[in-house]
Amino acid sequence: MNKKVRARLLVYGVVQGVGFRPFVDRFARENRLTGWVLNASSGVEIEVEGKRNDVKKFVDGFSENAPPMSLISHIDVSDLPPVGYKDFVIKKSIVQPQEFTLISPDMATCEDCLKELQDPQDRRFGYPFINCTNCGPRYTIIRDIPYDRSKTTMKKFVMCPACQKEYKEITNRRFHTQPNACPDCGPKIWLLDSQGNEQAGDGITKAKNLLSQGKILAVKGLGGFHLVCDAQNEEAVKNLRQKKRREEKPFALMVYSLEKSKAFCFISKEEEKSLLSIKRPIVLLKKKKASPIAPSVAPRSQDLGVMLPYTPLHYLLMDGSYLALVMTSGNISQEPIVFSNEEALERLKGIADYYLLHNRDIYTRSDDSVVYIANKTETMLRRSRGYCPLPIHLGYPVRHILACGAELKNTICLTRDKDAFVSQYIGDLENLEAFNSFEHTIHKMKRILKVNPRIIAYDMHPDYLSTKYAQEISEYDIKIPVQHHHAHVASCMAENGLKKKVIGLAWDGTGYGEDGCVWGGEFLLADFLSFERKAFFSYLPMPGGERAIKEPYRMAISYLYQTFGDDLIDLALPFLIQTDNKKLSAILETLKKGINSPLTSSAGRFFESISSIVGVRNKNTFEGQAAIELEYLASSIQKRNNISAYPYLINQIDSQYQIDVTPMIKQIVKESVNQKPSAGIAFAFHITMAQIALDVCRKIREECGITSVVLSGGVFQNRLLVSLLTERLDEQGFDYYIQQKVPANDGGISLGQAAIAHFKATEAGSGGST
Ligand code: ZN
Ligand code: ZN
Ligand code: FE
Repeated sequence: MNKKVRARLLVYGVVQGVGFRPFVDRFARENRLTGWVLNASSGVEIEVEGKRNDVKKFVDGFSENAPPMSLISHIDVSDLPPVGYKDFVIKKSIVQPQEFTLISPDMATCEDCLKELQDPQDRRFGYPFINCTNCGPRYTIIRDIPYDRSKTTMKKFVMCPACQKEYKEITNRRFHTQPNACPDCGPKIWLLDSQGNEQAGDGITKAKNLLSQGKILAVKGLGGFHLVCDAQNEEAVKNLRQKKRREEKPFALMVYSLEKSKAFCFISKEEEKSLLSIKRPIVLLKKKKASPIAPSVAPRSQDLGVMLPYTPLHYLLMDGSYLALVMTSGNISQEPIVFSNEEALERLKGIADYYLLHNRDIYTRSDDSVVYIANKTETMLRRSRGYCPLPIHLGYPVRHILACGAELKNTICLTRDKDAFVSQYIGDLENLEAFNSFEHTIHKMKRILKVNPRIIAYDMHPDYLSTKYAQEISEYDIKIPVQHHHAHVASCMAENGLKKKVIGLAWDGTGYGEDGCVWGGEFLLADFLSFERKAFFSYLPMPGGERAIKEPYRMAISYLYQTFGDDLIDLALPFLIQTDNKKLSAILETLKKGINSPLTSSAGRFFESISSIVGVRNKNTFEGQAAIELEYLASSIQKRNNISAYPYLINQIDSQYQIDVTPMIKQIVKESVNQKPSAGIAFAFHITMAQIALDVCRKIREECGITSVVLSGGVFQNRLLVSLLTERLDEQGFDYYIQQKVPANDGGISLGQAAIAHFKATEAGSGGST
C-alpha cells in the first residue's frame, strides 16, 4: 500500500533569502525523502520522492513548518512517477538577476539570536546588530533587488572570515544572510551629548544610566529614530511631551516582556499573539486601573499602545533595568520620523538630551505599525514596519498602477500580478519632508517590484499634494481621479475579495465630494467601476472651515444653531457657558453669513460635536480625540438593555436619502440640560448611529436587493460602533465586511484607488500592461 511516489512542488511568495532551502533540505530528510530543491526565478522548486505516507506528510506539513520570515502565497503540487533519487540535494539556483522576487519586511530578533546576544561565550555577546536568516532588517535597508548585500546599506561593511564562513555554509543559520555582521566587521554604536560630543565608554551602558536619570534619548532603531525615556518617570514623560509639542496623544511603550505587560494591561490570547509576532506591532491594550506607568504616557486614554523589544539594541537597553520605556517616533509634531544621523542632530535638537547613533544606515524610513484586536482579529491602525512590503492578495491579475493615496496618513500602492503592494505609512503630506518621503517610496517600490506603471490614480481633492503630483507628472498615460469615499469602500472590497456591487458605508472626517462639499457620512451603492451616492447626513456648515476640525465645539454650535436657531444662547449647556460670548457671537455671525463655512455631511464631525455637547471635549489635541473620548465614555456603560435610540428622520429626496439628526440633537440637549449622566447619552448616541446605518441599509436593500455591506473610513475605528452595527446587520441578514488588513482610515485609501483604477482602465480598454 505504501508505494514509492514522487511529487513536484512550486512554491511562491517570500521564499528567498529567508532560509528556505536549508529548511526544505532538513524537512525532506526528516521525512525520509530524496530529491532536490532550487531557487528559481519566481519562487522555489522542489521534488521529493519516497513512501506515499512520507511524501504526504511532507506536503501537508510544508507551510506550517516553513521558516518564520517566509510567506507562502501558494504552492502548486503535481504527482510524478518515481525516478529513484538516491539522496536529497540543494541544486544551483537558476534565478535570473532581473526577475522579480518578493522581499521580506523587517522582523524582530529571533530566539536563537537572542540566546547568542545574552551568552557571554558567544562571539556576538552584547552585539546590538546581531541578526540571521530568520530575523533582522530587510525592507528598510534594501535599495534594490535582487536582494544581496551590495544592494543594501550593509554594502560598506566587509564581512570578516568568520562571518563569511557562516554566510557560505548552507546548513548555517546565517547562510546568505545579507545583513550578517559581528563586532569585528559590522556596524558600531556610539553616544553623543546634545552638543554632538562623543561620550567615552560603552554607549549602551551610559544610555541606560542616562535614562534612569530621567533624560530623553534619541535612539536610532530599525526604521527611524525613537525618542525614549523611562515610562515610570512622570517628570521625564512630561518633559518629553512639552519638548515634542505633543499635548495628549498617547505615547507608545516598549515593555521588556509579555509577562511584565500583564502587570498593567489586560491581554487576550489574540493580543498576546500580535505582541509576540515577529512583526512586533504596537498593540492597543486596555489599561488596568492600578498602573506603575506614568500618567502622562496616555492621559485620558483607556488604552496603552504596547510593543515588545524587536531589535538587539532594544533588549540591551531594557535588560534588567526598565519595566517600560516610552518609545515614540523621533519627530516634531506632524513631521515624518527622522531616520539619518545628521537629520537627528538637526531636527531633534532641543528635544533629545543625548543621541544613541549607529552607522547601519536606514534607506527607507518606516514607523512602528499599530494594531488592535477586534472580533478576535488583528486590525490595522497604521500598517508599516513588519508588514510592508508584503502584498494584499487580490486574487485576480491587475494592471500595473500607481495609486497616490490621500493627504493624511498617506500610503501609496503599486500593483502587479495578482497583488497590491501598499507602502509603509508615509504620514501627513503637509510638509516638504513628507513629500520627499512620498517620492522616495514611489521610486523605491517601483524598483523593488520591477514595475513601471502607465496608470496613475489619485484623490479628487484639488489641493492634496498627492493630487498635484499626479496631475503634474508626465510619465503616466492614464490619469484616474477617484472620489475619496469611493476609494474607502473599494479598499474594503479589495481586501475582502469582493467584486460585486455593495452597500458601502464610508464614514470619516473629511473627503472631497463630487459636488465640492466636504463629504464624510456616506452610503454608496458601489462597485469598482462606479458609485451612486444613496444616502448621507444632511449638510451643515462648518464654521471656520479647517478650524472646526481642531475645535469640535464650533461644529457643535452649528448643530445647535440648525436645531434651535438664535435660542441656542439660552441653552444651559456647560460647553456653551464655557465659551466666551464674543467668540460665540463671532461663530454665529460666520454661520449666518456663510463665511468660510463649507458644507459637510461628515459623520466624524458629528461624533465630535456630540462629544462637545455632552461635555467631554471641546478641542482636539490630536485627530479624532473628541470622538475617541466619547467612545470611551459610552463603553463604560454596563447596563445596556434599557437604553434605546434617539429619534431621527430619514428623508427621501429624489433617489437619495438624507438623514436629519435634528430630533436627536433636541433630545440629547434636553437630557444634558437635565443633567442626565453623559455616559448614558454617549451610549444611546452610539446605538442611534448604528440604528441609522441599519435603517438606511435596509432601505437600500429593499430597493436594490443588495445584501453586502462594507464599512470603511476612520469613524469605523470606533470599536463600540462597529460591534453595535455589525450585530444589527447580522441579525437582519446582511453580510458585512470591515477593514483589517489595511487601516479603515486614510492609510487604506491608496489600495481602493488602485483597485478602482484597474477596473476603470480595463473597462475603457485602455493600454497598460497587466
Ligand atoms: Zn535571528
Ligand atoms: Zn564578522
Ligand atoms: Fe477618509
